[in-house]
This record gives sequence, structure tokens and C-alpha cells, in this order.
Amino acid sequence: MDAALDVAIVGAGTAGSAVALFLARAGHRVTVYERVAAPGPVGAGISLQPTGQAVLARLGLLAPILERAARIDRLHVMRHRGKTLVDLRYADVEPRWFGLGLHRGTLFVTLFEAVRREPGVTLHLGAEITSVTRDAEAITVHGPAGPRGRHQLVVVADGSVSELHATAGVPVATGTFRFGALWFVADDPGAAWKDELYQVVHGARRMYGVLPTGRGPADDRALVSLYWSLALDDHARWLADGLDAWKAEVRSFDPRIEPVLAQITDPAQVLLARYRDVRMKRWHGDRIVFLGDAAHATSPQLGNGANLALVDAWTLAETLAAGPDLARALPAYTRARKHHLGHYQRMSRLLTPLFQSRSRLLGGLRDAFMPIADRLGPFHRIMVKTMAGHERGLAFRKPLALPPP
Ligand SMILES: Cc1cc2nc3c(=O)[nH]c(=O)nc-3n(C[C@H](O)[C@H](O)[C@H](O)COP(=O)(O)OP(=O)(O)OC[C@H]3O[C@@H](n4cnc5c(N)ncnc54)[C@H](O)[C@@H]3O)c2cc1C
Repeated sequence: MDAALDVAIVGAGTAGSAVALFLARAGHRVTVYERVAAPGPVGAGISLQPTGQAVLARLGLLAPILERAARIDRLHVMRHRGKTLVDLRYADVEPRWFGLGLHRGTLFVTLFEAVRREPGVTLHLGAEITSVTRDAEAITVHGPAGPRGRHQLVVVADGSVSELHATAGVPVATGTFRFGALWFVADDPGAAWKDELYQVVHGARRMYGVLPTGRGPADDRALVSLYWSLALDDHARWLADGLDAWKAEVRSFDPRIEPVLAQITDPAQVLLARYRDVRMKRWHGDRIVFLGDAAHATSPQLGNGANLALVDAWTLAETLAAGPDLARALPAYTRARKHHLGHYQRMSRLLTPLFQSRSRLLGGLRDAFMPIADRLGPFHRIMVKTMAGHERGLAFRKPLALPPP
């Protein structure tokens, strides 16, 4: 059997671009279908954890990211006008670990430009894939105008609103979280926020966050990202109330935010992110496999979505390296990802209502118990490892498999 496979990858985001690079470099024939005709750097700041960094290092892409990102040493969460809720420092578990705050566009451009340069990848832009069909010889990807290509394997990496859930033949449950986040990326000429992802919570209804975002994808200005939790139902009221009312409330969470607020003069500058929940018991079907948000989107509470997508990409390449028999390799991929992804999906679902809901009780319980847990060695360790992307589930102590340094 020819060890090289003909692989279609749907979506050139974090998961799709990373897996395209791994598979092309392993000798597979790779075709990437990306819906957007001229993809560019969009989005706000994201955290790149030690796990995602290890995968990018394996691709030879960590150095350009390090040049533009801001180093993050801890997650510091405060109660509104109160005490620290949790203080999670990477070095408490592993001195070599740190996070990176960077513009999502920086990660996108770095991966996408590498895909463009990769000789083994055929890239189709403006190529939306809406369904798949199968016959004995091939799995075919279809766009709105008909069939686009016949392949041996389809890797679905088209994000949380995947168009391929319907025809893939893999059971899936999806939903939308009731809370999302407003976000704004600002210039940070004074570098007021350094070394930490800083958050302030007020019950479970209000959450404010600031992430140093390094230098943007387009130029060398220092950036910082502001997040503000908001129930989707309240967005219309937020718009009606006007910017001044909101700014006054944000100021009460962190008076240092004034230079950032001064840059917001129109509500249209502040974008609303919605979070989707995607649950699958297995991430593979007949000659098809789901990666990244298409496979396991959840709320970004743990700051790990892009990191999980990168680990997915490396793990799939490793599983296929063991042999091209898809009937063995794809179930092996699901088994390899089960515990790691299961932990992040469970923890996101558990924590999201504690930080983003209308419940007074849950906010109160969180404020009472999280500081205690944070001071208890084993719980603190689990929290730091979860933040760093390394936790595989409380009963599962085997370290996460990652590319060697
Ligand atoms: C507010 C917010 C904050 C976040 N913060 C963090 C963080 O701090 N750390 C972190 O790790 N993650 C974070 N995330 C999550 C992270 O952005 C995602 O988990 C990650 O980008 C998923 O990558 P992906 O490749 O699966 O999907 P995407 O990056 O969404 O890529 C999907 C690609 O598929 C293309 N596509 C879509 N449909 C089709 C189609 N039908 N045919 C062809 N192409 C298609 C799209 O154009 C896109 O290029 C955050 C998310 C949000 C919303």
C-alpha cells in the first residue's frame, strides 16, 4: 500500500494550517480548501500555552511568534474591589513554562504563510466546502456549485460552525453559550499591563480581562486586548445604554484602563464574540476526522482552544505516521485525544457558569471556595497545569504526549 495519502483539509485556520504542514512534510499529498478568498489577520488577543508552543516549535514557527508575542507569567484573577481569587503562576509547576499573549492574526499569518510556502500543499482559496459523499474508492468534498475533489481522507478543520457536521456521519451535539464577550484591541504605548493575564470578576455576571497582546500582525505597535463578559441577550441593551455608561462600569473594575477606553469612540469598535459548544464522542468516521473547534469548541474560559487545535494537528500526523491504514489510524487518533480533550471540555463546562451566568449562588460559591483550592498544593497544581494546556484529567497522571523539544 502507498504510504502517502491524498488528503483534503477543510479550513486554513489554526488546526487546518498546522495539520497541512505536518502531513505535507510527512510526504502526503495535501489539498487545503479555505472558504475565505483572501484570508487576513482578524480577531483579538489569545493565549498561547506551553503545549501550543511545543507544536509550533516542531513546525519551526515558534521563533517568529516569540518575536511578536508578550510573555505571560501568570493568570491573576481579582474580585471586584476585593481580594485575589486565584493567582496561577506557570513557574509554580514547571520553571520553564510561560504563556504568550499574542494577536490571533499573528498566529494565523505565521501558519498560513508557511502553508503558502510549503511545496506539498495545493491551496484553494474562496473554496467553501458544504458536504461530503463517499464511494468505494474515494471521499468527495462538495462546494455550493458541486464536487470539488476526490480524496482518500478528509480532515475537517472549519471551525465551531462546521458545515460538515451534517454529512460526515459522525454523531455531534452543538449549542451556543448564553454569554459571550465584548472585545477590543487597543494600543498600549505605556505597556501598562505586563507579564500577566489580569481579570476582575463581580459575581458570575461580570468579568473583565486584559491580555498583553505583543506587537500586532501588521506593524510594531504594542497592543493590549480588553475583554468584557456579556449575556448575548443583553447586547441590544448594551448598545442602547451607550458607551459612557459602560466605560464608567469598566473603570470601576480597573482604573488603569482609561487610556484604552479613550481609544473607543464608537460602539462598532467593540465586537461581540459568541462561543459555541461542540460535543462528539469520537472525532472520526469513515475516512473523515474532525480537528480543532469543529471537533470540540467550547467557551474560551481556559484559554486553550488554539492550543488544543495545535496538539490535535500534531497527534493526527503522529497517528498516520504509524501506518496509512485509516481503519486503524483514525480510531487510534480518537483514543489518543480522548483524555486531554475530555478534561478541557469538562472543565470548561464546569467553570463557565461560575464565571459567566446570571446565578448569584454560583458566583458566591466560586468566591468562597476557589481561593481555598488555590492555596491547596494539589488543587493549585491541577489549576496551573490546566491553564498551561498540560492536564489530562484528574485520574490520569500520564503526561501529555507532545513533540520532543
Ligand atoms: C473571544 C475568544 C477568545 C479566545 N481566546 C483564546 C485563547 O486565549 N487561547 C486559545 O488557545 N484559544 C482561544 N480562543 C479559541 C481559538 O480562537 C479557537 O479555538 C481556534 O482558533 C480554533 O482553530 P480552528 O482551526 O479549529 O478554527 P478557526 O481558526 O476558526 O479556522 C476555521 C477556518 O475554516 C474556514 N472555514 C469555515 N467554514 C468553511 C467551509 N465550509 N469550507 C472551507 N473553509 C471553511 C474559516 O474561514 C477559517 O479559516 C478564543 C476564542 C474566542 C471566541
